Amino acid sequence: MAAPKVAVVGAGVIGLSTALCIAETCPSCSVTVLSDQFSPNTTSDIAAGMLIPHTYPGTPIHVQKQWFTETFTYLFAISNSAEASEAGIHLVSGWQVFKNTPEEELPFWSDVVLGFRPMSEAELQKFPQHRFGQAFTTLKCDCPPYLLWLEKRLKATGVQIYTRKVADLWELHSEYNIVVNCTGIGAHQLVGDEKLFPIRGQVLKVHAPWVKNFIRDGDGLTYIYPGIHRVTLGGTREKGSWSLSPNPGTTKDIFDRCCSLEPSLRGAQDIKVKVGLRPSRWCVRLQREVLSQGGLKLPVVHNYGHGAGGFSVHRGTAKEAAHLVGECIAALQGSSSRAKL
Ligand code: FAD
Repeated sequence: MAAPKVAVVGAGVIGLSTALCIAETCPSCSVTVLSDQFSPNTTSDIAAGMLIPHTYPGTPIHVQKQWFTETFTYLFAISNSAEASEAGIHLVSGWQVFKNTPEEELPFWSDVVLGFRPMSEAELQKFPQHRFGQAFTTLKCDCPPYLLWLEKRLKATGVQIYTRKVADLWELHSEYNIVVNCTGIGAHQLVGDEKLFPIRGQVLKVHAPWVKNFIRDGDGLTYIYPGIHRVTLGGTREKGSWSLSPNPGTTKDIFDRCCSLEPSLRGAQDIKVKVGLRPSRWCVRLQREVLSQGGLKLPVVHNYGHGAGGFSVHRGTAKEAAHLVGECIAALQGSSSRAKL
């Protein structure tokens, strides 16, 4: 069989990192990224990009921990390299605070992030409304620079990148041997996945360069995440809402909630409001499927549905998707050698 032609549909953090893993693990493949939108117009551009895992109820915890560990290890190496600033990857320390002690004092990811410990009394004095807290150091992606860095890496490894809206995965069957579906919330329409739904998130990106530590309320709704240039203030989780229009009342509410955690934010400037739709699902859809029509077959690998945690697990799920692509290639090679006999 000639060099397998692989199309990756989608250019958010999942599509770009999956294409990169495929190109790295299968150098003989010809990899192409097809997407109707690229940075800065994807959901991935809106994200805060913090490596704090979201829990997928339908995925075993040991699998989620492996995805997170692989992602953390990969980005930690970048943060320690001369690429860190261009890739927008940096370490950030801070606090997760709770009004009441949580049932699970040690989350599954506590030994993957760095220096996880209960907050001291002195630290808790900063948060008079909270009784318990965890301090740790994690990684943060500044999302648009990271997406551009991934695109640059892809081009350097010979991956082709084209703007194209795909109406039906089958339309790619005559041009590609394998298709990888990384369309995020777009998969709802593209493959009619009714289990996939949006959780709308509104955030503010502000100029407040004195804020150096992250602060996250344990309920996950209110957070302050400092990036290299701007601080992300959040947020909202509106299940089932498809609206991409900012809501001014929500903007004021987010700002007030963040100021109650960090009063100095009252001096923040240049407030920009962004909205994104988290591609949410009971579990990430990471699986092979074979489409067939009129006796022809098209192997597909799905990798979408990362909800609120796509950045936290992207490298781990990309590696697994690349492994599934390897299985598709082996199956294709097996059937083409059987056909020659
Ligand atoms: P997307 O970024 O949406 O990319 C999908 C791609 O597919 C796009 O390029 C799109 O154009 C393309 N596409 C779709 N349909 C088609 C089609 N038919 N044909 C061609 N192309 C198509 N995660 C974290 O880990 N940490 C955080 O701190 C964090 N903060 C967040 C804050 C907010 C407000 C939001 C909204 C999300 C946050 N997330 C966070 C979640 C994270 O953003 C997502 O999990 C992640 O971006 C999903 O990436 P994706 O590549 O699957 O989707």
